[in-house]
Amino acid sequence: MKISDLFRKKEVTLSFEVFPPKTDIAYEEVEKAAAEIAALGPDFMSVTYGAGGGTSRNTAKIAAGLQDKYGVNVIAHLTCASSTKDTVKTMIRQYRDMGIENIMALRGDIPKEGRVCFDYDHATELIYEIKSMDDSFCIGGACYPEGHVECERQSEDLVHLKEKVDAGCDFLTTQMFFDNSILYAFLYRIREMGIEVPVLPGIMPITNKKQVARSVALSGSTVPQKMKVMVDRFADDPEKLKEAGIIYACDQIIDLISNGVTHIHVYSMNKPEVAAGIMKNIATIIK
Ligand SMILES: Cc1cc2nc3c(=O)[nH]c(=O)nc-3n(C[C@H](O)[C@H](O)[C@H](O)COP(=O)(O)OP(=O)(O)OC[C@H]3O[C@@H](n4cnc5c(N)ncnc54)[C@H](O)[C@@H]3O)c2cc1C
Repeated sequence: MKISDLFRKKEVTLSFEVFPPKTDIAYEEVEKAAAEIAALGPDFMSVTYGAGGGTSRNTAKIAAGLQDKYGVNVIAHLTCASSTKDTVKTMIRQYRDMGIENIMALRGDIPKEGRVCFDYDHATELIYEIKSMDDSFCIGGACYPEGHVECERQSEDLVHLKEKVDAGCDFLTTQMFFDNSILYAFLYRIREMGIEVPVLPGIMPITNKKQVARSVALSGSTVPQKMKVMVDRFADDPEKLKEAGIIYACDQIIDLISNGVTHIHVYSMNKPEVAAGIMKNIATIIK
């Protein structure tokens, strides 16, 4: 089902994300984790895309498998900054041929060692490419409540976000954030600019200490004192930190839903036990 249709049918939704294996050896392990997450009955699942090698090859395979074997709605990610037009068009055709109806259209990070391919500069160009090949896909795009790391001024980032939505994004999913007031301020600004598509808050349950530093380094997300204290308190006891991290994420989710932000995306990171912890706490709320 197209995710845009799902949003019209159901007021509150919960989705989980998985990432495909980098190598074929790890494929079975990831497939098993994805199947366990699918068994929890999320409204849809997203499958991320790496810039090359196994990750990109396996995105379509994992996504189609989830859809065909477990009947879960899926969205397959696709990045463009490190790909030629030929590769991107082949992937779009492959998604279509495998019955995938939803694509998360992304630029992808620019490799540290520099770009090798210059066919696409921004996600907006990928959206135009998808639309020109098959206008029936439902398209998602990324957004950044605290601004994208490369953009010096958030106002400029928002202008580009508007261009991306105008190109044909049916909905947006946010980068992780740990303080809901950041999302509410962002929503206020984009709605004022006329961006009206659904925005899915991306919730990242923090379940180990290293994850905080890694996530912040990659995304630039602000870590509130409340989270710092939690991670510090339970840093030496992984089980306690996992439980606390799940509850922190659920607290964010309940506050979001209470305030009318009702399509929730969880970065479940191939961890069925984390997805199950979230689901257990809010199963009745998302029905
Ligand atoms: C929900 C979500 C899912 C993700 N999934 C993946 C994944 O599966 N695989 C992966 O590799 N990465 C993924 N990422 C990371 C993403 O690829 C990076 O954050 C990347 O740096 C930006 O991608 P984008 O699609 O937001 O790019 P864009 O929308 O192209 O924006 C990138 C930067 O370019 C600027 N910009 C946009 N248009 C213009 C313009 N016309 N002129 C000048 N500047 C412009 C923007 O302001 C921004 O600073 C994901 C991120 C999110 C939030």
